[in-house]
Amino acid sequence: MNHAIEVRDLHKSFGSNKVLQGIDFTVEPGQVVCVIGPSGSGKSTLLRCVNLLEMPTQGKVFINGVELTHLDADIDAARRHIGMVFQQFNLFPHMTALKNVMIAQQRVLKRGAQEAEIVARENLNKVGIGDKCDSYPAQLSGGQQQRVAIARALAMNPTLMLFDEPTSALDPELVGDVLTVMRKLAEEGMTMLVVTHEMGFAREVADRVVFMDGGVIVEDGPPAQVIGDPQHERTRTFLHRVL
Ligand code: ADP
Ligand code: MG
Repeated sequence: MNHAIEVRDLHKSFGSNKVLQGIDFTVEPGQVVCVIGPSGSGKSTLLRCVNLLEMPTQGKVFINGVELTHLDADIDAARRHIGMVFQQFNLFPHMTALKNVMIAQQRVLKRGAQEAEIVARENLNKVGIGDKCDSYPAQLSGGQQQRVAIARALAMNPTLMLFDEPTSALDPELVGDVLTVMRKLAEEGMTMLVVTHEMGFAREVADRVVFMDGGVIVEDGPPAQVIGDPQHERTRTFLHRVL
């Protein structure tokens, strides 16, 4: 079986700033991998390289066995398998929750309005805000807005979900609702690559934790090892600060 994600010798520079300096890792179908590490260590850049929102300077990215970094790759087709959720929810403010979840289905997948609405309602129900279909983003809490963003990604039937600090912009009391949705997705077998500072989530839900620092992977292993018994001083220093 193909790896869901395979990254080989990935480098990314912005000018002289070498942000990723040779990243290698794989994510298997159904796995949840959490990426942790200090601010500026390259976590977001790595996620953005995985779906080619950033073009790697060097190295290869494969999604479900297809090389995205190949010159002839159909990047749009490959990206259709990948849902992404950002720290900022990026909802359209002038559209209801329902419309926000319908629009990409109609524009990108060419679904008709009726089908798009059914799928949107299903996914808003799934993330626990089926009663908020007619609300506009400004009428929703941050946790509800982020769940609309997750429903929007799920409505595209991704095989893989990327999350970049999905709870970092939320008030503390709203973090749990979003993590509960993510936990449920993980239990259903969704393949997930999650950048997060939520160590409880990483410990309980992740199959593997990857610790990044300075554009390299310092440790990669089960949470009990990387969080519970880190082997590197850099990992220990980081964990002391966040735990
Ligand atoms: P993290 O998500 O771990 O905090 P980032 O991947 O966002 O780290 O950033 C790592 C480094 O890359 C930072 O020094 C940042 O300034 C730089 N960087 C990220 N994106 C860009 C960009 N589009 N242009 C220039 N520099 C960038
Ligand atoms: Mg980041």
